[in-house]
Amino acid sequence: MNRRNFLRAAAVAPAGSGLAAPAGPSIETKILRLNLQHTWTTTMSSSQYRDTLHVAYARDGITGHGEGAPIVRYHEDAEGARKAVESVRALLLSANPMQFAKVMAEVFRRVPGEWAGKAAIDIALMDWVGQKLGIPLYTYFGLDPKDTPLTTFSIGIDTPEITKQKTREAADFPILKVKVGLATDEPTIEAVRSVTKKPLRVDANEGWKDKEEAVRKINWLEKMGVEFIEQPLPAEMIGETRWVRSRVHIPIIADEACQRASDIPKLRDAFDGVNVKLDKSGGMLEAYRMIQIAKALGMKTMLGCMVSSSVSVTAAAQLSPLVDYADLDGNLLISNDPFRGVLVEKGKLVLPGGAGLGLTRA
Ligand code: MG
Repeated sequence: MNRRNFLRAAAVAPAGSGLAAPAGPSIETKILRLNLQHTWTTTMSSSQYRDTLHVAYARDGITGHGEGAPIVRYHEDAEGARKAVESVRALLLSANPMQFAKVMAEVFRRVPGEWAGKAAIDIALMDWVGQKLGIPLYTYFGLDPKDTPLTTFSIGIDTPEITKQKTREAADFPILKVKVGLATDEPTIEAVRSVTKKPLRVDANEGWKDKEEAVRKINWLEKMGVEFIEQPLPAEMIGETRWVRSRVHIPIIADEACQRASDIPKLRDAFDGVNVKLDKSGGMLEAYRMIQIAKALGMKTMLGCMVSSSVSVTAAAQLSPLVDYADLDGNLLISNDPFRGVLVEKGKLVLPGGAGLGLTRA
């Protein structure tokens, strides 16, 4: 305990009682190792587990849970996220959590980068605030839980045989999201199509390197019943994406090109919509801002997630009544989720009714 917190704790100890001071606010940071049900391959990486950062913020007998999934694409890892949270521990312990917007603005000012760490703090505070107010976070944001969209279930890059098996396993999901962007795009889509006629959404994860290739692939995907394409070209190729957009019919959604609210205006002519993720934005508050800005600019909105537990996915799902598309399946890809929150019934997100995030222990 630093000197200021010691003095705060001492100040609230019952005078003359001789008893120890009541437990003040506390913060716990923990790296969660989440085991994947299938080895997960995209254009960026291939792995059997993912580490995320879990933050527990306790005060007044209420514990708020937060989580951030570090994104390798932005040079983040779980240890860096943990250090980022530790760097603002004193601020968080001394702050009034009901002033969460002010607190998060200060966290954003003090911590460069480390969006997953910031997201873990923001979500823990929001979960705490919702519980303190006794309302679910969707109610705090003025949303109707019946308005949640369908979520896609993601099929990572794999051999045609395993792709078919994963597609069969996703029988309960009315829409699938398929990862492409390597040399195997056509066999992957054909493998999925040999099993199902469902609408598909496709994510190229910046995998195509020139605009002509992107136009060719997207026009082929449209014929294969694909609804939209996510991030066909590298994030910085915004002008080329604008060129592509004028030559294809299906919507193009920005993911890697769109991390935060300030990115959105420059994407307006090149993309039809944006994929918002709490791990990119630094939490629910910035994600909410992004959704509102995109809507104001007439763009489609999507909520996505990284591989993570039900903490982070439920936080995103609380905002999902706002968006056109959801890809919130990160908790469904793991085998050791420590929490239970949002559920999926025939593809529709079902929000828990409890206060805050509404989480329970799995
Ligand atoms: Mg994506």
